Amino acid sequence: MSMNNIFNYQLRDLEQYFLNIGQKKFKASQVYDWLYKKRVFNFEKMTNLKKELIEQLQKDFNINQIQIVKKQSDKTANKYLFKLEDGQFIEAVVMFHDYGTSICISSQVGCNMGCKFCESGRLKKIRNLETYEMVEQILLIEEDIKRRIFSVVIMGIGEPFDNYDNVMNFVKIINHDKALAIGARHISISTCGIVPKIKEFMNEPLQINLAVSLHAPTDEIRNQIMNINKAYNISTLIETLKEYIAKTNRRVTIEYVMLDKVNTSVECANKLADLLHGMNVYVNLIPYNQTNNLGYKKCSATDLQKFYDTLKKRHLTVTTRKEFGSKIDAACGQLRSKEVEQ
Ligand code: SAH
Repeated sequence: MSMNNIFNYQLRDLEQYFLNIGQKKFKASQVYDWLYKKRVFNFEKMTNLKKELIEQLQKDFNINQIQIVKKQSDKTANKYLFKLEDGQFIEAVVMFHDYGTSICISSQVGCNMGCKFCESGRLKKIRNLETYEMVEQILLIEEDIKRRIFSVVIMGIGEPFDNYDNVMNFVKIINHDKALAIGARHISISTCGIVPKIKEFMNEPLQINLAVSLHAPTDEIRNQIMNINKAYNISTLIETLKEYIAKTNRRVTIEYVMLDKVNTSVECANKLADLLHGMNVYVNLIPYNQTNNLGYKKCSATDLQKFYDTLKKRHLTVTTRKEFGSKIDAACGQLRSKEVEQ
């Protein structure tokens, strides 16, 4: 990672930078205060820094390199298209809930996981996002909506655990009191199930939520819809989640997208309940957002209800994800780069 964008820096890294150039480390807190509290993205306007230091910072760092190029809104959500410095595009969505505003950010340009029902994966991964490109999605959206974000989900384009280091760096920055101070419990990472990274994640000293896209109760079904299952099958994944729960004492969210005639039968619900029996999890049923390009269909409200009721009867905690932004193609699995529209 090239470190020279200022939004790549955790406070302790910036302190180290100042020490390296023979300055006091509290300068890092001053710069952080300008960036994250006063939202001044121009070194020249950091009036408590000396002129020579400002010149040095201008030489050593970049600020602000991604841009909002399009915004679409409906009552509950805004979707933003961002252009990156190298001409690539990504999307992020902000959602307005009763309890506050949340944002769903992208972690990669394209995605290599190849889930058959997901629009984002139609564009293969071009590259990982750098930390600053994730931080700036939040800063630019907050500036646009003129309010602060309450929670962040890393569930936009990309597989966050395929960009582990930059995502962790990002999370540590937005969580830091002197930066965005977004509480760890208000940050969620969603993974399709990259087992070695879940193992690494359980050792992080952070109280961030983990969500796992399970989407099927058997390998037979999961193999059909998610390539990752061929690398880490369901029993390996579930064993790892049990280890995660034991180690962190945190509840895991199990995401389950309802694909008509694929994984929505009552039999599937019962198998899912068997699989998750006794685990500290909560199941989030996701109504499928249909797209024109993939062959999958949304299931009926009756099927969804039956599935839900079956899990409830089996004593699982279960919710159905509220649909946000589907009118503006901003819902789960609909984000993609406009540049690949065909
Ligand atoms: N790569 C990560 C995060 C991105 S996707 C992951 O796989 O978890 C966020 C969630 O939306 C995942 O659970 C994904 O499977 C789901 N999803 C993808 N396409 C969808 C669609 N068209 N409708 C509803 N959910 C979808």
